[in-house]
Amino acid sequence: MSELTNISYVKDVLRRHGFTFSKALGQNFLINPTVCPKMAQLCGGNKQTGVIEIGPGAGVLTNELARTAYKVVAIELDKRLLPVLEETLRAHHNIKIINGDAMKLDLKALIQEEFEGHEVAVCANLPYYITSPVIMRLLEEKLPITALTVMVQKEAAQRICAEPGTRQSGAISAAVHYYAQPEWMFKVAAGSFLPAPKVDSAVIRLNIRKEPPVELKDEKLFFRVVKAAFSQRRKTLSNSLSAGLGLAKQDVTSVLQQAGIPSPARAEEMTMQQFAAIADTLAEIL
Ligand code: SAM
Repeated sequence: MSELTNISYVKDVLRRHGFTFSKALGQNFLINPTVCPKMAQLCGGNKQTGVIEIGPGAGVLTNELARTAYKVVAIELDKRLLPVLEETLRAHHNIKIINGDAMKLDLKALIQEEFEGHEVAVCANLPYYITSPVIMRLLEEKLPITALTVMVQKEAAQRICAEPGTRQSGAISAAVHYYAQPEWMFKVAAGSFLPAPKVDSAVIRLNIRKEPPVELKDEKLFFRVVKAAFSQRRKTLSNSLSAGLGLAKQDVTSVLQQAGIPSPARAEEMTMQQFAAIADTLAEIL
């Protein structure tokens, strides 16, 4: 068992380095000893795979990833954690820590420089305040990665994994399903973290698709349609699309008819194919 899941050890290291948790940076560190080995396993890493970790914190997951992967590059925004990581990860020689913002770094260049010739996966216990933007950034950039194994808040995990066309689905479900096949892995109780957050979390794996599930005339328009459709969840699809896309209601009604969408419909009832049909019909008239 890693000493990084021993609360007294972690508290002592952090105290010696004068570290205090920042809520704004989503700093809840894992202390449940079973979670990180499972995540490292699910990440699919073997001694040929490179792993990018976002937000290593005190290094508990990084430590497990370094055991299973060829090399780990971990991106940490909080400078105060650099001396902590230097101490906690000193036994490993296949870890590189980069002090930077995962939302801003050039990840394509990073992959090329650090992992040339190797398969790459992403593994992270994501800071809650940027869960969706980070996931969407990693997917939209079409990075040469095989999968993202991430821990997010349980509700976010349910939303991301929900199949478009089902009650729990949202804009993020359709967006993620376009790039990846999400898989629910396991729930993680709030008490598994230091400090404990108010809600439970879950680990999900997004397996990157080689081909998208629908062929589109205009990818950007598809994402605009999905966003507009869910922007006013309680309204009918024609109302939310009309408001979200700035189109006259009768034009939207006609587009929906041409796309073969039954009326009235709501965003959460739309499958990927139906969203694609709406976007493709719109592409012809816009
Ligand atoms: N991996 C550690 C664990 O599981 O215990 C820490 C996870 S903690 C939920 C999130 C980590 O992400 C923190 O260390 C935080 O400082 C870092 N972080 C927050 N925003 C970041 C960003 N934009 N880029 C990189 N790291 C970030």
